[in-house]
Amino acid sequence: MDFYISWSHSDPIYQLYDRQCSMLISPTSITSVWQITRFPKMPYQLMIDSGGYSYVANQQPPPTPRQVFQRQIEILAKCDLPTTICTLDVPILGRTTTIIERSKAIDKTIANAWELKLLMAEYSKKKELGKQKIYSIKPMAIVQGYDIISLKYCARRLKELGYTHFGIGSLAHLYVPNEIRKRVEAVQSIVGSHVHIFGVSGIETMKLLSEVGVTSVDSTRPIKAAIYNEILYSEPYQRFGIAGSKFSQASSKFSQAKMVKELTIACPCPVCEGKVNNDLLKLGTRKHLLLRAIHNYYHLKKMISLWVE
Ligand SMILES: [Zn+2]
Repeated sequence: MDFYISWSHSDPIYQLYDRQCSMLISPTSITSVWQITRFPKMPYQLMIDSGGYSYVANQQPPPTPRQVFQRQIEILAKCDLPTTICTLDVPILGRTTTIIERSKAIDKTIANAWELKLLMAEYSKKKELGKQKIYSIKPMAIVQGYDIISLKYCARRLKELGYTHFGIGSLAHLYVPNEIRKRVEAVQSIVGSHVHIFGVSGIETMKLLSEVGVTSVDSTRPIKAAIYNEILYSEPYQRFGIAGSKFSQASSKFSQAKMVKELTIACPCPVCEGKVNNDLLKLGTRKHLLLRAIHNYYHLKKMISLWVE
């Protein structure tokens, strides 16, 4: 299972520390003029989602599929790296939405995917005429639904449109592993096991998704954990909190024994370089926050790679 780091402009440049860095960028996590050429080094592969989640979550009217597509191409600038772009989906988030609103969201998700097919066809034509540089862009259709039947319906319709790559949204808020498994397997029964799952934060959920054979997940977990003063380790998986730091809500996540003042584990990650690196425990500076994020990223990825073996 591939791990995509979900990146926003204040995060570390993970690819400087990982040659095989797969990165997810959302148009809503960066400024409206940001382009990938701002990176000093390109990621190994890239996924550009539509920002659909953010528009719904913030109750903002979404742009049109054409505007989203243009922005996705703009972000990519003239860079030639393996890139997946996602259809503009309409996530179903609230418990308050009515059945009619939910159906509308699914219909709109399908209609937007149809429009991206047309936009891609238009774009390929231009490429053939030599007007634009050839990029390796792969469109991915995002399946939305609120239960097994609606997810299967949406997956079937998207498959009929000719898509061969699929992602599943709106699972992050479920929290119940068995329900996530059932929904993913329902979509896989229509489109095959090779699907991407968006916005996964729990390591247990990642494990489960790896077991059901999904192709990839994306997550902001390394930086989120760093912000909450968490230090992750793989082989074996362990997590520690930094003694003396305030977690508010998250504080209950750690027993006293897991709150450390000093580290004891020598770490092979790119920022610890084989040493016991107590700089990871320093609070209140961006520099040390980013060190923790890179360290956490290394271990999360390592853990996922061990599941595959
Ligand atoms: Zn480390």
